[in-house]
Amino acid sequence: MSRPDRYRYVRRLIVPEGCVFCKARETGVGFESLNLYMGETAMLVLNKYPYNNGHLLVLPQRHVGSLLDLSEKESLELYALLRKAQAALLKVYNCSGFNIGINQGAVSGAGIPDHLHWHIVPRWAGDTNFFPILAETKVQAESLEQTYERLLPYFRGIDDDQR
Ligand SMILES: [Zn+2]
Repeated sequence: MSRPDRYRYVRRLIVPEGCVFCKARETGVGFESLNLYMGETAMLVLNKYPYNNGHLLVLPQRHVGSLLDLSEKESLELYALLRKAQAALLKVYNCSGFNIGINQGAVSGAGIPDHLHWHIVPRWAGDTNFFPILAETKVQAESLEQTYERLLPYFRGIDDDQR
């Protein structure tokens, strides 16, 4: 990810009161916690401060800060969920590309360094032209609630065997 200015902005907004991801896990699926989906060991939430519409976070349900802390099972489920999230964004947003990545550790710019998470940011041709101008004023074409409502139906259907 190449938006260090944006990361500083995001980090100022996060109040370090417990772990928001663990709270989202405890709250379960719902807009209140921006939690879209919970698998067995992995989960999917909306980024509260999106860089682009549809900005998702894929993360382990367990509070761990490094890829090296993941079990084999967690690693596999996280990778599968990354793929499902990407498929959902393609279907719902028809985007032309993605930025997918992890900032591991506070020195890397991670906003919540103690709970590992992948960013998946949908990209469209031309969005870099207006983003540097608009990002700091938080102009978004879509509200978080709209994003949530658009993506939730997709994840309701992906593993009916668990419901
Ligand atoms: Zn946590």
